[in-house]
Order: sequence, then structure tokens, then C-alpha cells
Amino acid sequence: MYDVIIIGSGPAGLTAAIYTTRANLKTLIIAGSKWGGQLMLTSIVENFPGFPEGIYGPDLMIAMRKQAERHGAEVIEENFTNGDFSKSGGTFKVTAGNNTYETKSVIIATGADTKWLGVPGEKEKIGRGVSSCAPCDAAFFRDKNVIVVGGGDSAMEEAIFLARFAKSVTVIHRREEFRASKIMQEKAKQNPKISFMFNSEITEILGENRVTGVKIKSPFSVIPNSFRDLASLEMLKQVQHDNKEVTWEMPIDGVFMAIGHTPNTGAFKGIDIDEQGYIVVHDHTKTNVEGVFVAGDVHDNKYQQAITAAGFGCAAALEVERWLSSRES
Ligand code: NAP
Repeated sequence: MYDVIIIGSGPAGLTAAIYTTRANLKTLIIAGSKWGGQLMLTSIVENFPGFPEGIYGPDLMIAMRKQAERHGAEVIEENFTNGDFSKSGGTFKVTAGNNTYETKSVIIATGADTKWLGVPGEKEKIGRGVSSCAPCDAAFFRDKNVIVVGGGDSAMEEAIFLARFAKSVTVIHRREEFRASKIMQEKAKQNPKISFMFNSEITEILGENRVTGVKIKSPFSVIPNSFRDLASLEMLKQVQHDNKEVTWEMPIDGVFMAIGHTPNTGAFKGIDIDEQGYIVVHDHTKTNVEGVFVAGDVHDNKYQQAITAAGFGCAAALEVERWLSSRES
């Protein structure tokens, strides 16, 4: 019987494990077959405190895992498959791979996955000009030209952040209207470095080793004049042929995706989930089921940073410890 099972092995899960093991709680981490979370897919992380020169995302996660294991956490690299949390306050059974484990408490820290466009040239250039985190990567694009894809609050926020560094930021949105709040839209519109391209979709990300441009499908009317100079006979032929929608190439140094996240909550029977799929959190760390706690991007759709996820992991671990002690006394 474990004192706590932590499902997930990103910054939230591993930080939680460092705290639970140091509190002498028998801890199992169900890490997933691809352990480590989103940071395993990033290059250098420059905003995690303690690393003045930055640290590679995978190196940071390996160090966190070692720290948790050194204090006694057991780690299994299997995917969580099943757990029925519907009975409040009971002993929980959690299945991963072919094994089922019993535990007095659970911390769900399964994170969220960035939504990507899924277009050719995207996947292999993540960390090479394709990013989903302006606070992490904006400084690499000083005096460069970048695109932000999306029309929600994240897209506006990323564009405003990027404009502090980049020469120009073009927000590309698939529809004619933004989904973002008016106040965020206004802030972005007031920034002279930010421009907007509506009814447009990126169909390919170009470049050999890193991003050099994108192919965009859009009405001819939204193509900025500076790029129309590049309009070839081919383009004009397409304008007629495709009812004025053309596919054209825009040279660019970076592409930031801000098209949302998918929280990894699908498998948690009995746990309340909001309309966007995030776990509903009470009192910072608690789910609707007593004894089941939550930490990190799986409930947090606002900050979504490694350091905030780690902080939520710490908080959840402290609450687990308090909750277990209160039951034993
Ligand atoms: P979001 O509100 O879901 O917006 C995602 C945007 O991406 C939408 O404009 C959507 O287009 C577009 N999109 C989705 N899939 C796409 C695809 N395959 N190709 C092209 N475009 C695509 O997500 P979010 O902006 O990350 O915000 C998530 C939540 O966090 C929201 O509740 C938001 O208010 C909140 N948030 C708040 C702040 C803040 O208050 N400072 C900052 C960031 C986020 P459509 O509009 O056509 O669907």
C-alpha cells in the first residue's frame, strides 16, 4: 500500500514526489511510457530559477527525477490506464500497464499537451523556430520576424510578449474574428510592432534545419503589400482559379503556436472536469474526491509554466501530507 501515487512525471509530479518522499510518505510515480512531460520536447529553458545560463528541458527533467528517486520515490514508466476515484475518502486502486496498485491518496499531475497545427515541416522544427511558449523562447527572436498562430487570449498575450524582442509579430488567425477578450485584443492592436492576418491558415512550415518561412493559404486581399511584390504569375493564376484564395510563401524566423492546450484528463472516472476539459480544483489542490489531489497544467489553464507547475506540485504534496496526518490522528 502506498501513501501516495502521483500520476504524471512533469515538473508538477516530480516536485510533488520530492516533497512527499521527504515527508517519509511511500510514493509511487506513474510516469507514463514517455515520462517527463512537455519539457522533454523543448530545447533550452531560460526562465527556470537557479540556472543562470539556462538548462535544456530534458536535462532539467532528468535532474528532477533523480532528486525524487534519491529521496525514495519509485517510478514506473507505464501509462495510467484505469482508476476509479468515485468513492470519496476510500483506498484507491490505480492501474498502470498490467499492474494495479493500492494507495491512500492520489495526486493527478498529468499535464496538458500543446495543440500543434499538424502541418508538414512543423514537428521536426519544434525548438528550431517552432515554439509554443513566448516567455520561454522570445529572447531567441530579438530583432527577428515572427508569427503567432491563434485568435484567443494566449495568442494576444504571446504576441505582446514577443513584441518586446522581435522586429515584427504577425498574428495569423483562421477566422475573421478573434476569440480573445476585447481588452487583450486592444492591447495587441495598440502595439505598433504587431499586425494581423485574418482568414488565413498555415499549410506548411519551411526550412531545412530551422524555420525560414511558411506557406499560407489566404484570400489575396489579406496579403500585405510588401509580400504582393513577390506575387508571381503563378499566384495571380491561382487567384483566378481558387476563387481568390491563394497559397503563398512568407519568409519568417519563428512560428509560435497559441491554438490551445488539451489537458490529459480523459481517463479519470469520478473526477469533475470543466467544460474545457481541465480538472476542477478546490482550495488550490483538491479535486471533488477527498484524498485525490491535483497539480499543474491539468487544472491550470492560466499560467502553464514549468515553475508554476512545480509550485502546484509542492502545494499538493503538502496538502496530501496534512490530509493523511489528519486521518491518522
Ligand atoms: P482558446 O481560447 O481556445 O483559443 C484558441 C485559438 O486557437 C482560437 O482562436 C482558435 O480558433 C484557434 N485554433 C484552434 N485550433 C486551431 C487550428 N487547428 N488551426 C488554427 N487555429 C486554431 O485558447 P487560449 O487562447 O490558449 O486560451 C485558453 C484559456 O485561457 C481561455 O479561457 C483564455 O481566456 C485563458 N487565457 C487567459 C489569459 C489572460 O487572461 N491573460 C491569457 C491566456 C489564456 P477559433 O477562434 O476559430 O476557434
